[in-house]
Amino acid sequence: MGNTEQSNRKGLTVILDGLGDRSCAALGGVTPLEAAHTPHLDRLVQGGTCGLVDPLYPGMPVGTQTGTGVQMGLAVRDAYHLPRGPVEAAGVGMLIQPGDVALRCNFATLRADGEGFEILDRRAGRIREGTETLAAVLQNIPLGHGIAATLQPATQHRAVLRLSGPGLSAAITDTDPGAAPCPVRVLTSYPHKPDDAAGAETADALNRFIHEAHQRLREHALNREREARGALPANGIITRGAGKIRKIHNLLHHQGLSAAVVAGERTVLGLARLFNYTVITDPAFTSLPDTDLAAKVAAARSALDNHDLVFLHIKGTDICSHDRDPEGKKAFLERIDAALAPLLLDDLVIAVTGDHSTDSNTGRHCGDPVPSILHSPSARRDPCRGFGESECMRGGLGRISATSFLISQLDYMGCLHNFRPPDRVFFTTDAG
Ligand SMILES: [Zn+2]
Repeated sequence: MGNTEQSNRKGLTVILDGLGDRSCAALGGVTPLEAAHTPHLDRLVQGGTCGLVDPLYPGMPVGTQTGTGVQMGLAVRDAYHLPRGPVEAAGVGMLIQPGDVALRCNFATLRADGEGFEILDRRAGRIREGTETLAAVLQNIPLGHGIAATLQPATQHRAVLRLSGPGLSAAITDTDPGAAPCPVRVLTSYPHKPDDAAGAETADALNRFIHEAHQRLREHALNREREARGALPANGIITRGAGKIRKIHNLLHHQGLSAAVVAGERTVLGLARLFNYTVITDPAFTSLPDTDLAAKVAAARSALDNHDLVFLHIKGTDICSHDRDPEGKKAFLERIDAALAPLLLDDLVIAVTGDHSTDSNTGRHCGDPVPSILHSPSARRDPCRGFGESECMRGGLGRISATSFLISQLDYMGCLHNFRPPDRVFFTTDAG
């Protein structure tokens, strides 16, 4: 538990992924949130202070990892430089030690071609089953110089590779050529800087792993069985997003507060594990609009018993925007509004926000700030009456960064005694 004698009220933060939006012709020129009938959220608006939240810089679109990371207390500087590999590794529960390099991977279908390989399918026919069996032959593979590689499968064709050993560098290029049409060659990994000896050694080890993995997978009984029934074999691994864990600065750690995260989305779960928060997940939390909202709300409510702050993350809003389905987003927001009712308790400091805006017209993340509510019995009142982008423009918080929004919530919770954050860590992207 955190500083309970300092903390007067508990906090609940509802993160609706991709909440903010733009005007949609299909909705008569308003946004999905403005079109939605949200009586419970409107009541929070009337009893709180509203505003527009910028995840990182005003006007700058960000990804879920960056937006959610900062909302959950990650220093802006660290969010900006946080590589994807270690977050994915944490998302699948893989232990990454300082010094290890983690990479995002795909099981792929490869064909040997001279010294290297051609990719016939980047996702091994979207393999759904058997990747644990395949990964079992890719554990602790020695690659020389004390370096060893271990692969852990994630969902479908996805996996995470961990390189461990002395003197590794994450400043290496991908072996996955990206979205280029197949067949395309697997790339050789190189250090970003030609004179980087540690990078050269790490890249060499990775290149050896690519060959070794193909050796071990191509004759695997599971792949023979796949080929016999006409499925593509998962006989190779391609990698991207190499990264190392470094010291992570987090506002809640800084304040000695305990937190729990209720989520289904892997990136968010990965961040929560990196931050040592209590992770509450369930297969019924699907990261889609069909997620079990009632179960998530019940989980968040019980987590409030023994944590200072509980984050409830809901992904489906962003999925609707990516599908360019503003009506679907509106309908899902109405279901969320009804489902949240048991959580809207007067003794909580409640924040409702999003990790970024997503434009349902284009299906892409956009840089518009996110409409947000901060509700507390003692919050200043402002003229806002309903929850929406235009209403929040009139809000008392004005336009505020995600870090300052979190600090405001902690202030209402009574958790900011002796608060002296290192400004250069929490408010800049300077890696220095
Ligand atoms: Zn997102």
